[in-house]
Amino acid sequence: MNHNPFKNLNLVKPLLEAVAEEGYEIPTPIQAAAIPEVLSGRDLMGTAQTGTGKTAAFALPMLQMLNQRRVPARRRGKRGKTGARALILTPTRELALQIDESFRAYGRHLPLRTAVVLGGVPFGAQVKALAKKPDIVVATPGRLLDLAGQGRLRLNNVKMLVLDEADRMLDMGFIHDVRKIVDLVPKDRQTMLFSATLTQAIAELANDMLRDPSFVEAERATAVPGTIEQKVFFVRQTDKLALLATILKDESMGRTLVFTRTKHGADRVMRSLMREGISADSIHSNKTQKGRERALARFERGKVRVLVATDIVARGIDVDGISHVVNYELPNEAESYVHRIGRTAR
Ligand code: AMP
Repeated sequence: MNHNPFKNLNLVKPLLEAVAEEGYEIPTPIQAAAIPEVLSGRDLMGTAQTGTGKTAAFALPMLQMLNQRRVPARRRGKRGKTGARALILTPTRELALQIDESFRAYGRHLPLRTAVVLGGVPFGAQVKALAKKPDIVVATPGRLLDLAGQGRLRLNNVKMLVLDEADRMLDMGFIHDVRKIVDLVPKDRQTMLFSATLTQAIAELANDMLRDPSFVEAERATAVPGTIEQKVFFVRQTDKLALLATILKDESMGRTLVFTRTKHGADRVMRSLMREGISADSIHSNKTQKGRERALARFERGKVRVLVATDIVARGIDVDGISHVVNYELPNEAESYVHRIGRTAR
């Protein structure tokens, strides 16, 4: 039996070690399909959502190629090309942070530098990180354009470009920013585009930005892992909050994620729970980046037991040991439901 099937993917030792340290044993289907394609230098169109292991599917081969093509500092010279060589665009700040973290984890045995660029926080730290000439930049589109406009970051040395959760970027109205950024990146590059859904708009975007791409598809998460036990409660609207509080007071409810449909709903539920003496916090896109990070950190460290969230930030929540997920309000799409409850059973 092969004890490290990642070996078959022709990854270099420092990456194999990092993957083993992460506790990964078997490549996920999207990793097995995408890694060889990216290593061969081809453009890639991937239909995969968060949770399929898609980050490693692009991050591992990118790290390997960036490392192979590394120019030693002494040969770079003062006026040599020093702009970032890889750029990853994501729709949300949480996802950007998570991808940056993954690059750091997988690349921990390689001498490559990453920087993350996102809105909602002061410029200072990001400007400093960019001044250190990172090889890899993970960014949300708006802030990246601001910084590029200020001359803090050059994109004319980018050789690898990833558009992650491209459908989300379209939904969130980032398409113009994304196109502007792609125009700043050299045409001679390798491009990877990931999207959970394959719509007409995504197909057009892919057509504009990819050259002879290889298509890879991850199993869509329409099936719920069998290990998750599901329950439904029938209750009048007016009794919903009281029922939620009663359920959450049960000792067996450990680290619990509660989903609402709106940001205001999330805050309202959080406040009601706190009035009932349940330690809770909320996370949604109206909060500042600092506020969101603080809420996640408190939840992760067990300072609060209940986190009330909206779907948009749920994509960035990758906290271990969530025992229960409550759909206080049901999502509109089946996929969101599967994604939500998949936050547990990890
Ligand atoms: P992603 O879809 O990239 O957000 O990854 C989802 C989760 O799966 C993350 O928590 C990863 O750490 C984890 N993961 C990624 N690849 C593997 C693998 N081959 N084996 C086990 N876990 C993995």
